[in-house]
Amino acid sequence: MSHVVIAGAGIVGLTTAVELANAGHNVTVLDPAPASGATHHAGGMLAPAAEVVYQQDPLFPLMQAAGAWHPRLIELVAAHTDLPTGYRTEGTLVVAADRADAQHLSELLDYQTAHGMEVERITTRAARSMEPALSPRLAGAVSIPGDTQLFPRMFAAAALDAARNLGVDVRTERVTRITPDGAVTTDQGTHQADTVVLAAGLGVAHINGWYEDTNPLQLRPVYGDILRLRVPVSLQPLVTRVVRGFVEDRPIYVIPRVDGTIAVGATTREDSLPRRVGSVYDLLRDAIRVVPGLEECELLEVTTGARPGTPDDLPYLGRLPHAPQIIVSTGYFRHGILLSAFAARTTRELIEEQTLTLDLTACDPLRHKD
Ligand SMILES: Cc1cc2nc3c(=O)[nH]c(=O)nc-3n(C[C@H](O)[C@H](O)[C@H](O)COP(=O)(O)OP(=O)(O)OC[C@H]3O[C@@H](n4cnc5c(N)ncnc54)[C@H](O)[C@@H]3O)c2cc1C
Repeated sequence: MSHVVIAGAGIVGLTTAVELANAGHNVTVLDPAPASGATHHAGGMLAPAAEVVYQQDPLFPLMQAAGAWHPRLIELVAAHTDLPTGYRTEGTLVVAADRADAQHLSELLDYQTAHGMEVERITTRAARSMEPALSPRLAGAVSIPGDTQLFPRMFAAAALDAARNLGVDVRTERVTRITPDGAVTTDQGTHQADTVVLAAGLGVAHINGWYEDTNPLQLRPVYGDILRLRVPVSLQPLVTRVVRGFVEDRPIYVIPRVDGTIAVGATTREDSLPRRVGSVYDLLRDAIRVVPGLEECELLEVTTGARPGTPDDLPYLGRLPHAPQIIVSTGYFRHGILLSAFAARTTRELIEEQTLTLDLTACDPLRHKD
């Protein structure tokens, strides 16, 4: 079996390592700070239906396949670690705060239904019987039972442990250079690989040597502020499903974790300015409008992560024609937790030279090359 070096131990690098090691490959993962990138901050929704965005048709099959493949990936990780994965399968509710939001929700439902997604309009009364902590003043609700979630920090720790237990050599080294012959230089030495997987998220921009003249990827950080709350024991469980909401056209989500905490997110901004108090206020105000009991929770943490964005919101995944020993796997933007199941499986198919289950044309790493 081949020796594969993976640059980056975010969710994409880690799940790829588990998938490859499980198939018998000899895998080394290099990352100066495993799972410290976007994965550390992410919401963790596995939401191929709720996350649908108008006019992004090439993304849908990737998201739907990833949603279908995740349970197997989670089982694979769980089979090789005693650590919890933070996976929850209760599903998702999407609610509307006012009549204009209900109209928006209705149009989204039509779009999702037209694309064959499993979504169901329900009454707000039915939504409240499923989640009694929802506000009594909602204007619309949709149930998406197939959209699940995992706790990315917990899952990354479990995947790291599973990878090690499968024999993966995980080293805290920063990759500085990768050459087309599979030589990988780090701040601590060199490694020779049959295949190198470039899975360092936004960090790929700082690795040299693998492209012909200029870096062909157009990655950009898209920042997201996200909060973590602890539900008081007397109110637990405040909610059991992921609750997404539209509040005066602003999106909000509330994610109950297996450890009794709740994530509230997230902003979307392209500036790198310090986090504004106003952004945190907006998130809390909108979340409390949907789930009033959040007001009683303890505020544990406010963090900001950078999503690895691309110009068309599609990932970069594929071999480089001039350097077939190198596979690029980054740019998973808003959906990298979900798409990790797609990334891991497709990278194994590429390495094993199998017929690809999904067409990768839309993910060509060179599509934005000048
Ligand atoms: C606020 C927020 C909420 C989100 N919510 C969701 C969600 O609900 N669902 C979803 O599907 N997605 C979500 N995402 C998106 C998701 O987090 C990302 O798409 C995903 O984490 C990308 O994973 P990655 O492994 O490619 O990159 P990262 O998680 O960024 O990992 C990259 C890794 O590479 C390492 N690295 C960097 N440079 C080097 C180098 N030179 N050498 C070696 N290693 C290096 C870093 O240390 C890091 O560990 C969210 C993101 C944010 C910020």
